[in-house]
Amino acid sequence: MRKQLTISGLEKKLDRIFSVFVRLRHARNGYCQCVTCGKWHHWKDIDAGHYWKRQHQATRWDERNVHPQDTHCNKFRGGAEAEHATYILAKYGKAVYDELAVKHSMIAKFTRADLEGMIEKYSGLVKQMERHT
Ligand SMILES: [Zn+2]
Repeated sequence: MRKQLTISGLEKKLDRIFSVFVRLRHARNGYCQCVTCGKWHHWKDIDAGHYWKRQHQATRWDERNVHPQDTHCNKFRGGAEAEHATYILAKYGKAVYDELAVKHSMIAKFTRADLEGMIEKYSGLVKQMERHT
């Protein structure tokens, strides 16, 4: 019998698969452009950077809040928040930007079933995308 993951184990698993999903979704021929400095990297060599940081559960796995970012911007420039905001505004518009600003501070409680459902959804999407890369 497989050991059942804890909630935090499921969250980590979802973080990993969601990060792969974000990077593959934005990849062109296997390469991703950092949304905050414009440099290109192989998708395996870039991060999935959160605009509203990962501790905000409500926006942790929101596809409009997480984009390819290189280590330089994500880690050493603290997420390059101003440029990331500019990117979100240009890509989705002000309504979405404002929605994320409200959403990130809301209380979000994901159950085991919610997390397992999202893991299943994003694993499936990643499998589809891998076939096309
Ligand atoms: Zn960058």
